[in-house]
Amino acid sequence: MNFIEEFRSSQSGRTLLEYINKRSTKPARFMEFCGGHTVAIFRYGIRQLLPPHIEMLSGPGCPVCVTSTADLDKVIALSRLPGVIICSFGDLLRVPSSRQSLLEVRAEGADVRIVYSTMDALEIARQNPLKKVIFVGIGFETTAPTIAASVIQARNQGLANYYVMSIHKITPPVMRAILDAGETRLSGIICPGHVSSITGSNAWEFIPEEYHLACAVSGFESLDILYCVKSLVDQVEDATPRLDVSYSRAVKPEGNTAALKIMDEVFDICPANWRGIGILPQSGLCLRPEFAAFDAEKNFEIKLSEPSRETPGCLCGEIIKGTRTPLECKLFSKVCTPENPVGPCMVSSEGTCAAYYHYGGKLG
Ligand code: SF4
Ligand code: SF4
Repeated sequence: MNFIEEFRSSQSGRTLLEYINKRSTKPARFMEFCGGHTVAIFRYGIRQLLPPHIEMLSGPGCPVCVTSTADLDKVIALSRLPGVIICSFGDLLRVPSSRQSLLEVRAEGADVRIVYSTMDALEIARQNPLKKVIFVGIGFETTAPTIAASVIQARNQGLANYYVMSIHKITPPVMRAILDAGETRLSGIICPGHVSSITGSNAWEFIPEEYHLACAVSGFESLDILYCVKSLVDQVEDATPRLDVSYSRAVKPEGNTAALKIMDEVFDICPANWRGIGILPQSGLCLRPEFAAFDAEKNFEIKLSEPSRETPGCLCGEIIKGTRTPLECKLFSKVCTPENPVGPCMVSSEGTCAAYYHYGGKLG
């Protein structure tokens, strides 16, 4: 048996499900923060195997989904500037902003390139010394350290034409904002796995301590998620909320201290604009003043010709908060499909709408 198979064992899965079904008596609503979990829960059919009184809700999902239209409009404005090359991870190109997607401005002649790592973007900057290369820094704590490392590398190598447009976000503040808003009644949270491998599980201690909700950090295999649900059910049944980690092979309480250090060296904490939620203080990462020479916001005049506007009918802003599901969106699977996405939750491979479409559209 190889390492991963151990986390997919059907016998162990059956045992866990039997336990959950016997143990769970109280109605419960669990929100998975992370889009990777949403996809895994659908892929393994976990929703349908749980007792009917346990409801699974999807939360903020992935960095592409939570990027605000206003921030996307800024990226589009940057892409139209002469002599600029925009580098971005692939998903972002297809997300509609107020009026266009990056893919559409590229079709009109803008130099927009898909990269698979910040190293690719640095290489493009090296090969195009007469151009200004702007990397769209989008992501949670998982990707921020690599982008911080690219800024340090650009500085150390004297690259004067590399910039980062930082739209990074940090996750605990948005979880707090969702809980504070109280728009959706929750019994427990499945905390993100990759993010927690950087931040450490300690970052989520406030959930049981301040909000008295069950909480567990999960990995992405079927047994990881079932262990996590088992823990949440135990916490709910015993009325003893605590922080549990069912992903200890990747997550330490203190996180990845080397990654946190490099993030802290390059980034300051600043407000960030979240889709559906608005500007949250202390929830984003912007470049520290020492790295201002690499900050796209400080080095380019970003002019928006018209105010930002949301796509009519798209419920992504509500879906991120867990107050609506994709099945409540009139555009779902009719007008809006992965081939023709109307909102980011259908674009991203970890988006809730895409997960419903691929795995659960008919089942809910
Ligand atoms: S980066 Fe990882 S932890 Fe974060 S939302 Fe995506 S899958 Fe989840
Ligand atoms: S189905 Fe499409 S339009 Fe509706 S909320 Fe999801 S992404 Fe937005």
